[in-house]
Amino acid sequence: MRVLVTGGAGYIGSTVARQLVETGNEVIVLDNLSQGHRAAVPEEATFVHGDLQNRDLIDRVLADHEPEAIMHFASRTLVGESMEEPLLYLDDNVRFGMNLMRAAVEHGVNRFILSSTANLFGEPERIPIDEEVAIDPGSPYGESKFVLERGLHWLDETHDLRYAALRYFNAAGAAGPDQGEDHDPETHLIPIVLEVALGQREKIVIFGDDYDTPDGTCVRDYIHVLDLAQAHIRALHALEDGSRVYNLGNGEGYSVREVIDTARRVTGRDIPAEVGDPRPGDPAVLIASSDKIREELGWTPQYGDLEDIIGTAWEWHRRHPHGYDTES
Ligand code: UDP
Repeated sequence: MRVLVTGGAGYIGSTVARQLVETGNEVIVLDNLSQGHRAAVPEEATFVHGDLQNRDLIDRVLADHEPEAIMHFASRTLVGESMEEPLLYLDDNVRFGMNLMRAAVEHGVNRFILSSTANLFGEPERIPIDEEVAIDPGSPYGESKFVLERGLHWLDETHDLRYAALRYFNAAGAAGPDQGEDHDPETHLIPIVLEVALGQREKIVIFGDDYDTPDGTCVRDYIHVLDLAQAHIRALHALEDGSRVYNLGNGEGYSVREVIDTARRVTGRDIPAEVGDPRPGDPAVLIASSDKIREELGWTPQYGDLEDIIGTAWEWHRRHPHGYDTES
């Protein structure tokens, strides 16, 4: 299949782009490189440097390359930032996603996969969180993804667009020793902890230890980026049987303190930590139930273990202490 991957130079998008190439698909990556890295894009993919606010460009890409499916990763993705600048998220994420959907319909592309988020569930009524749990976004970031899910739902109703919305819990780990997570600024827990292990930062600040959890720190479900990528490939093939929505996680929760302790074991390094203020928008516990995708698509995560996940990330960070810039 020919697949357009927006955000295909980013952490998750580039991992999926590579798996698409490896499984025999033709890939076109569209990325503005605001967060992504040219070096992360698989060599076999066609790369287009550009932005989703440019509707002419989207039209041109769809006309030139005639993709049969679109995978949409390009997005602002930070819960904390969205609490500071809600309209930036509601405006950019929604408008850029809608630009892409409009073009998909106009060009007759009827398969669409959306990167969605666990942040759709701000204060979940039960844990683990299955697809029936009521949606109540935890931040403008989560809200922006919900609006896009609804847009896809209505395009399915009105234009026969087949879509999958994949709600990631905490993507983590590295796809390989030379392919990993590289954000600027970095805000995610595991890469920051590993930067402390490398001596690039003095300490990790734990965002609050007064949550209603066993050790008072937030509990999250960390899922390896290669397992996430696998889910996309399976979802793409399943679209011919109809649209679908899945929560994607390991079903296992780890507290911030457990992550830090595991990283100390994996790296053998001292990782100084101190407790700071909670981060607005952070729910206490997010753990996925992924029974639905396991049952319907036979998806099984290969990296269920936090040590394995952190181990792959550590290998990448050690080899590339300055991320992709080391090579470019
Ligand atoms: N976290 C933390 N210190 C940091 C970064 C993150 O304590 O410097 C916590 C954060 O509050 C959350 C968890 O680690 O409970 C995972 O946060 P991350 O930003 O990695 O992912 P998110 O859950 O926001 O998608």
